[in-house]
Amino acid sequence: MKIGGYAESLYIPETEEELIDITSKTYDEHGRVLILSGGSNLLINDEHRFEEVIYMGSACPEMIALGDGCFYIGASNRIQAVISFVNDNGFGGFEGLVGLPAMFGGIIYMNAGLGGAQKPLFTIGDFVERVRAYDLAKKTVVELSREECEFSHRSSAFHRHPYVILGAVIRCPERTPEHSNEIKEARKKYCRENFEYGKGCFGTCFSRASYKILKIVSIHDKIWRLGGGRVTFGKNNKNWIVNHGGGRYKDARRIINACIRAHKLCRKEVRCEVIIWE
Ligand SMILES: Cc1cc2nc3c(=O)[nH]c(=O)nc-3n(C[C@H](O)[C@H](O)[C@H](O)COP(=O)(O)OP(=O)(O)OC[C@H]3O[C@@H](n4cnc5c(N)ncnc54)[C@H](O)[C@@H]3O)c2cc1C
Repeated sequence: MKIGGYAESLYIPETEEELIDITSKTYDEHGRVLILSGGSNLLINDEHRFEEVIYMGSACPEMIALGDGCFYIGASNRIQAVISFVNDNGFGGFEGLVGLPAMFGGIIYMNAGLGGAQKPLFTIGDFVERVRAYDLAKKTVVELSREECEFSHRSSAFHRHPYVILGAVIRCPERTPEHSNEIKEARKKYCRENFEYGKGCFGTCFSRASYKILKIVSIHDKIWRLGGGRVTFGKNNKNWIVNHGGGRYKDARRIINACIRAHKLCRKEVRCEVIIWE
């Protein structure tokens, strides 16, 4: 979102062992550890100084073809590199995620996919055979089956239990290079035409919401400038919130809070998909 944040200490572990060591040490009494992957689904309070943040960019870089359409993918890989690797081996299935500025660990955590809650086209959970993770509570590396990952719309067991995702084994269907390229190019074209590139955003803000209510709050925002005019609703999609430059945490938060309040007033279900570091 191009907002925030300050960390007293930023750790960039270079191996899985370093990652496990540092996450164990920074895991606090509230059962929380701040892990940053692509940062594409995070809203970070820019008025708070976070003590320790761990960046996932280097610790888990492995990508291994296991045969028969199965791959082990480390959490630190960018999703574009994962798609290319799987395609180069003659397989595919989640090329539609090519536009996400995200890492594989964040993709698993959020169960990223295309389509809404009612009509999902696919989610990464459809491809997962098992996830390797470090269990901070039990202090041990575990392997979770797809069922144990409890994948649902933009959510997973990783939201509810302190795991550090190290990587996952995925199984993919065969795909010709032509088919994969066609999907990637179509998706890139769609992103170019519909997304406001270069501006801060986190994709869809609410995993459950009424589009009508979001539209009404967006009109309210045009008049009252809830986001100070720096953060507004997206031009083409009212479920997107965009930072036009200089936006602050409180600007984005006011818009999100207004949407939640409006849903509650109308007794409609709402769930913010964005992870907020208060
Ligand atoms: C332009 C744009 C388009 C988008 N389009 C889509 C879309 O089409 N579909 C979709 O589903 N999403 C979309 N998103 C949202 C976002 O890309 C996804 O939610 C993505 O999965 C987040 O991955 P990340 O690496 O950026 O994770 P981050 O934002 O860095 O982290 C998200 C959460 O995961 C946790 N986490 C990350 N890595 C680990 C790990 N290894 N172990 C434990 N916890 C971890 C973080 O602590 C945080 O709580 C879009 C975002 C943008 C900016």
